[in-house]
Amino acid sequence: MASEKFIPYARQYVDDEDIAAVTKVLGSDYLSTGPAVTAFEEALAKKVAARHAVACSSGTAGLHLAMLALGIGPGDAVVVPSITFLATANVVRHVGAEVAFADVDQATGLMEAVDVEAALERAGKKKVKAVIPVHMGGQCADMAAIARVAEINGLHVIEDACHAIGSLQYGKAVGGCEHSRMAVFSGQPLKTIVMGEGGAVTTNDRDISDRMARLRNHGMVRERELFADKELSLDANGEANPWAYEMHEPGFNYRASDLQCALGLSQLEKLDRFVSRRRKLADLYDTLLAPLAPVVRAVARAPECEAAWHLYQVLVDFDRIGIARSEMMRQMREEGIGTQVHYIPVHRQPYYRQRYGETSFLSGAEAFYENCLTIPLFFGLEESEVDRVVRSLSLVTGRS
Ligand SMILES: *Cc1c(COP(=O)(O)O)cnc(C)c1O
Repeated sequence: MASEKFIPYARQYVDDEDIAAVTKVLGSDYLSTGPAVTAFEEALAKKVAARHAVACSSGTAGLHLAMLALGIGPGDAVVVPSITFLATANVVRHVGAEVAFADVDQATGLMEAVDVEAALERAGKKKVKAVIPVHMGGQCADMAAIARVAEINGLHVIEDACHAIGSLQYGKAVGGCEHSRMAVFSGQPLKTIVMGEGGAVTTNDRDISDRMARLRNHGMVRERELFADKELSLDANGEANPWAYEMHEPGFNYRASDLQCALGLSQLEKLDRFVSRRRKLADLYDTLLAPLAPVVRAVARAPECEAAWHLYQVLVDFDRIGIARSEMMRQMREEGIGTQVHYIPVHRQPYYRQRYGETSFLSGAEAFYENCLTIPLFFGLEESEVDRVVRSLSLVTGRS
């Protein structure tokens, strides 16, 4: 019914506390690179039990900083699952390395250790320097298994955790980096916590954290003990010049502002509430969707993971019901329900096809893509709206 409120597939939740936190920064001395940045970094590191967190301007910037800090560059290759957002693969190209696309499990959309091994074989083990598992929808790629393959082959592991803030694996928060060098988060408005735009990288490695912090600010070094050019940076008494800074490698302006970090910090304080609500709604979907199987099924559950459910994805047997996904999405839209597809396999993008040619070996990614549909899930979603979504799905798939 057109008169009913439109339900998007995702929506941010920003309350008066968040607004007050940002407003306070606006009236303060620092709009950027001030105390809110440090406070956000400390709170995030604590929340996920990592030693360090580096805030930055986006999740993409975080992934790029990770590549740069590990020294990945031309001649190297990095394994990336084909079911992910463009950014996960693009950052590999931004440092001049090649993307070795990996397949995913067609029931979960997650890259598995065997997929990493297959990608390594195809790309040539010597070239591959890193792997970026993606925690699709908030479910976790099997980090222990992937870390074993990585260790045998000398790969760095960087978690694309942009969907997984608040998720637990093996009972521990994603971002603690037990099985990785770094984990990257995003504060883009459709993610579980928002910063407007923004992101952060967590790590337990001090050197990597320091290097990322420099690279997000043009590569600037301000510490006296790190100065390499005494003539340039020190005065006659060996003191640092008051204006001194050095640049040892060029970086970027990937800073997060105090406005973004104040919002991020205020949102982080609500994370537990956000996640428990998302889990409750996901459980409700599971129950209400059960009668639609096998035509409509929730994505399979990854073991050892308590997902924060950034997305709720179903797999639909479109062939069996004889309706195209595009048509189904249009019909649901007419009923006031937003849906989305996460994601078009990145290896299918014209740029990557042109660079790497046709690929026939990513059948799990192709199958996941053919069937997946993201239905509404967000903190402010009502139980009655979950009901409406399921009724609409039943109708358009001819199950009721
Ligand atoms: C959102 C997202 C990114 C990029 O984050 P931005 O903050 O938008 O730059 C990267 N990877 C995945 C899986 C994402 O969902």
